[in-house]
Amino acid sequence: MNNQFLERAVPHIAGLTPYVPGKPVTELERELGISGSVKLASNENPLGCGEAARAAYAAVAAELGRYPDGGGFALRSAIAAHHGVAPEQVTLGNGSNDVLDLVARVFLHPGVESVFSEHAFAVYPIAIMSVGALARVAPARDFGHDLDAMAALVNEQTAVVWIANPNNPTGTWLAAEPLHAFLSGLPEHCMAVVDEAYFEYVDEDDYPDTTRWLEEFPNLIVTRTFAKIHGLAALRVGYGLSHPHAAALMNRVRHPFNVNAPAQAAALAALGDREHVERSIAHNHREMARVAAGLKALGLDWIPSVGNFVTVDLGQPVGPVDQALLREGVICRPVANYGLPTHLRISVGLAEENDRLLAALAKVLGEASRLGSG
Ligand SMILES: *Cc1c(COP(=O)(O)O)cnc(C)c1O
Repeated sequence: MNNQFLERAVPHIAGLTPYVPGKPVTELERELGISGSVKLASNENPLGCGEAARAAYAAVAAELGRYPDGGGFALRSAIAAHHGVAPEQVTLGNGSNDVLDLVARVFLHPGVESVFSEHAFAVYPIAIMSVGALARVAPARDFGHDLDAMAALVNEQTAVVWIANPNNPTGTWLAAEPLHAFLSGLPEHCMAVVDEAYFEYVDEDDYPDTTRWLEEFPNLIVTRTFAKIHGLAALRVGYGLSHPHAAALMNRVRHPFNVNAPAQAAALAALGDREHVERSIAHNHREMARVAAGLKALGLDWIPSVGNFVTVDLGQPVGPVDQALLREGVICRPVANYGLPTHLRISVGLAEENDRLLAALAKVLGEASRLGSG
């Protein structure tokens, strides 16, 4: 076989480390010869989506022969109204991941730099490097973004800085005052992406809704998703809010039908379903407290999280524990690729799933310590 084409592949793409999503449950169960496992690996809403979204999705089944509305008129208008911005400020994405890629395509290229934090969401370096820009990683502070360290890396060449608030996989968050000061200090040529994928889950008085700052900062892009609290991860729909000129640039390179019709319909219904959002928030707070109490009882440490997941320090390399948990039918997410080799990220599930997790952890860690001492 002649693989000469490999030499012609764009070097910054050939050099990328791929994002590794969790294995599908069915595949894992087949490999391990188990069934009935629980998946706490992808920060999904364990309640799923609301009834209104499900009905709106189903209603589109009669229209599958039609292309979606390429401009996403109804959904964009509803998102704009929801946030009190103009529809021209909304960029729809195939998941907010798509919007992050659009930012990279519009504002990054070989020769410019882009700044993010250690332990930040893994999609940022992929977006940066896929377009050949230089990734600059600021050291974290207490597992969270250190805004001073990030600011210190910003220079004349910096085109985009990425901030996850809260961050995945650490669950750490930034308060309004320091974040506002950071944005005020950014040069005007530098775009700031504030990724608010877990916005609704955060219950802290000084946690900012940065969509309110769009007027003040024309270089700000805020991203949100329907994949997390709205429970529509399968449909892939998210959005960016920005200055209309930034949105116009992103909409130039956006695939015209990047958000499919069932996704648009379900997202529109989900946005209006405040009850489901409230129910999901209440569930998460209740179950997060129970999971935390269970972890504490096991003598484990974790990074305090304001999201729907918690990243636990097992104090030992995670691989064997993760494998043992899988054999118990509990799927979590190792985060060694985030520079956290002894941590395991656990999504908050249904009450019975969390019980399964805590029981499996107790069993597996008990066995590990007996082996260690014997
Ligand atoms: C889950 C997540 C997203 C959302 O991704 P989608 O593409 O909308 O599914 C974005 N940012 C962070 C930090 C996340 O954890």
